[in-house]
Amino acid sequence: MLIHNTATELLALQTAGQVTALDITNAFLASIAKQEPKIQAFMRVDEAAVRQQAEAIDAKRKAGKPLGKLAGVPVAVKDVLCTKGIVTTCSSKMLENFVPPYDAHVVACLKNADAVILGKTNMDEFAMGSSTENSAYKKTRNPWDTDRIPGGSSGGSAASVAACEAPVSLGTDTGGSIRQPAALCGIVGVKPTYGRVSRYGLIAFASSLDQVGPFAHDVTDAALLMEVIAGHDPHDATSVDDAVPAYTQLINSPVKGLRIGIPKEFFEEGLDSEVEALVKASLKEYEKLGATLVPLSLPTGCKYAVSVYYIVATAECSSNLARFDGMHYGHRTAQKTDLIATYSKSRGEAFGKEVQRRIMLGTYALSSGYDHEYYLKALKVRRKIKNEFDEAFKVCDVIMGPTSPTPAFKFGEKTDNPLAMYLSDIYTISCNLAGIAGMSIPCGFTASGLPVGLQLLSPAFDETKMFQIGRMYEGVTDWHTKRVGG
Ligand code: GLN
Repeated sequence: MLIHNTATELLALQTAGQVTALDITNAFLASIAKQEPKIQAFMRVDEAAVRQQAEAIDAKRKAGKPLGKLAGVPVAVKDVLCTKGIVTTCSSKMLENFVPPYDAHVVACLKNADAVILGKTNMDEFAMGSSTENSAYKKTRNPWDTDRIPGGSSGGSAASVAACEAPVSLGTDTGGSIRQPAALCGIVGVKPTYGRVSRYGLIAFASSLDQVGPFAHDVTDAALLMEVIAGHDPHDATSVDDAVPAYTQLINSPVKGLRIGIPKEFFEEGLDSEVEALVKASLKEYEKLGATLVPLSLPTGCKYAVSVYYIVATAECSSNLARFDGMHYGHRTAQKTDLIATYSKSRGEAFGKEVQRRIMLGTYALSSGYDHEYYLKALKVRRKIKNEFDEAFKVCDVIMGPTSPTPAFKFGEKTDNPLAMYLSDIYTISCNLAGIAGMSIPCGFTASGLPVGLQLLSPAFDETKMFQIGRMYEGVTDWHTKRVGG
């Protein structure tokens, strides 16, 4: 079936003249029509506009014009990324009617590569959450078990690929929001190095942590998307002016003498026993391939990452979200009142509970008298976490462990306990704090059929090696070929 193909396969089918971009687009639109009532991955899909894009690419091909790297490949885009002329809500009532006048840099990159923008995907409001239950609009379901969450905050983007409603998609990762839903949905998800991908047009949550990255069925497709979206952008001062390696050409060279760092803290209490067994089995596969496992300890990163993150991320979001006050930006209350009351009523009406909680936490952490105790202390511990990774990478090429402590959980299981929800990202968060790259790849299923992810963490700007190491595993396993229902 066309919808089970990877983006790389879809490109080859078109080059061989076996299908057109329109055939492909129609197949995915049909899959969306069939599955959306159940999965609810998308915020919006404009069928006519999607078909028009595909037709334009077919016409270009027919005319013999040069085509981009993603010609005719449909891509779903998280609703936190601005799309010119298309409502971009961040799954918040605050931006219910926001139509961006420009494209996010990564969206422009997709268009330049002749991709077909399929639609906007559901997410936790302002990317705050681990289950997509914080969306103000709908609950996205995990395609492997629709009684369960798809992970978050990029749950819609992950579910759209897992359900074969899109071959690839984009998400964002501030503390794990690409890798954790990728793990829970049985697909590949990449959090690039901080600075590798421009955030221009990404509605900010926590600016020192946010990165845009791909979801895909396999590492090759993820690398292909990275090739398209990575690179310098003068609109984002944090984007680094380094050439983007030809990931897809380099990806099939195995890493010789591979050393895998295994932090002991990744296998301590809180880790589900089935997840542990599957992750350990995949490490055995790497050993069979000749890799050496190097025992490590990341004491600060593992013990304090969640605490540091919830100070840094909330502090930054309290500042970033200050602009949404009904005057400068966003929903304005209908109640006629004075200026200050308009601000607070507008924000109170349109921000969900989790967003309000974080703004309050962050404002407190930054308030005078407490900033030294909380925010500045957190920055110091953050630096220690980064130093710990720098030391670790002196003795290993990559660090591995579970992506998420548990498989997908049931709706409502953690909504009343924010701390339990926050612990979903215990293994992913330190990567963002240190600014390094990370990836989750599927590594098996629990007895009840829920997917489990293996996390790879690599030094900053070493995505090439991370992809090569991921490919080595795909060469000897077939988890990446599994599709829901067949
Ligand atoms: N789950 C984490 C949070 O709630 C991470 C979110 C993210 O990466 N966008 O903040």
